[in-house]
Amino acid sequence: MKLDLTVEDILEATNGVLIKGDIREKVDSISTDTRNINEDEVFIALKGEKFDGHDFVKDAILKGVKGIIISREIAVEGNIFVIRVQDTLKALQDIANYYRRKLKTKVIGVTGSSGKTTTKNLIGKLLSIVGKTYVSRENFNNEIGVPLSILDAEEDVDFLVLEMAMRNKGEISLLSKIAEPDIGVITNIGWAHIGRLGSREAIMEAKAEIFEHIKQDGVAILNNDDPFSMRIYEKLKIKKYTFGFDERSDLRGEIVEKNEENYLLKINFPDGKDIKLSLPIYPLNIYRNLLLSLLVLWVISPESVYSLEKDFYFDLPKQRLNLKRKENGLVIIDDTYNANPDSMRTAIEYLDLLKSSGRKIVLLGDMLELGDHSIDGHREVIEEVFKRNIDMAIFYGPEMRKALDTYQNLDKKRIYWSKDPEEIKSILKNSLCAGDTILVKGSRAMYMENFVKFLEDEL
Ligand code: ATP
Ligand code: MG
Repeated sequence: MKLDLTVEDILEATNGVLIKGDIREKVDSISTDTRNINEDEVFIALKGEKFDGHDFVKDAILKGVKGIIISREIAVEGNIFVIRVQDTLKALQDIANYYRRKLKTKVIGVTGSSGKTTTKNLIGKLLSIVGKTYVSRENFNNEIGVPLSILDAEEDVDFLVLEMAMRNKGEISLLSKIAEPDIGVITNIGWAHIGRLGSREAIMEAKAEIFEHIKQDGVAILNNDDPFSMRIYEKLKIKKYTFGFDERSDLRGEIVEKNEENYLLKINFPDGKDIKLSLPIYPLNIYRNLLLSLLVLWVISPESVYSLEKDFYFDLPKQRLNLKRKENGLVIIDDTYNANPDSMRTAIEYLDLLKSSGRKIVLLGDMLELGDHSIDGHREVIEEVFKRNIDMAIFYGPEMRKALDTYQNLDKKRIYWSKDPEEIKSILKNSLCAGDTILVKGSRAMYMENFVKFLEDEL
């Protein structure tokens, strides 16, 4: 048993009508997907762009659910309860908020332009030292994923870490209202989704919505190295801390030793404590995710930070700066999950930092959702490639082409472009040698993982 709610609670949370069934019936678990629904769960029929959950009510009943929540009249036979609500998505969110209010858990909400998934996992790993922790699954970060993540948490969890994403204004505000975080963190404010929001200021305001419904004694955690985050910091009237490499950060990171494979990172906590961690080489932005996470741990349990010096390690989620070393000596940096100009620059910096016996090569696909800023955003990335120690660049997609066309005299021996995946594969085949390190990255819709698979299986 998980949720410990009853039909009566659901009716109270949603203002729904009980069409049939018993108000005392228990509701342990709610699911939106009949493909993996279990007996004794409750099915809520969401209406999406492509599918309407109401078309799957029959499947849910066949699978033995104990109840359904719907917004359209459907004749339902059998011994199950039926709750009718105005809007099933709103109902899911209302139930999640109702449950959240029952929980004694501390909720940590994570938003930002880049690094949310990486950071929520890191926070989860660190908080597990102190208590039972639940971290939202994979990329469950939107108006459906956040409520589902809350409803996934068992009643006795001490910490619930939620990723909160947005594409438009108002979305984080809604997620904040559902989750009522105790601690709200922003990784950084960059370029992601600028096409929809129009400007970095607008992105900044949309991210700041995370603090709209923060608990009264809530804490804000912000990036001192990011000017837009600091503009939010200045206006905030709640308890707040900053992290960064900048001297003025409350929690300050310092790289005190470097060798070819590791950096020694000294972390200076706000109360004067410090620890040193030996870590694999990463760009500073990845360490910033760690600094942020350590600050969350410190806010919750300052004394636990010492235990980390013994054996701390961390790895990144799948398709995020994952190093893959092939037997034939080719090294692939698989960063194919997604891309925006900030994460692109971070990934290029990573390639530059890595030791390589061969050449350093990038295969970079278009970044989407940049709107009017598309050429500028792609140019930023191209500039970063020029600035860094990169031997060869392969660009993929029409947006990259538009940006490349703004340069004159590109070196054709070092810079390639195509919009045809087969042509890209043949460029890879003809040019890569053992020992080379290649970074592969692009927006989700560019399916850059297909190139990683090609490099793994066919080269
Ligand atoms: P999404 O919006 O797609 O859910 P996200 O914010 O959850 O993305 P991650 O999946 O953690 O971000 O990381 C995506 C990529 O961003 C990583 O592969 C890495 O290249 C880069 N990245 C991670 N952290 C940062 C950071 N703090 N600043 C800039 N880039 C970062
Ligand atoms: Mg994510």
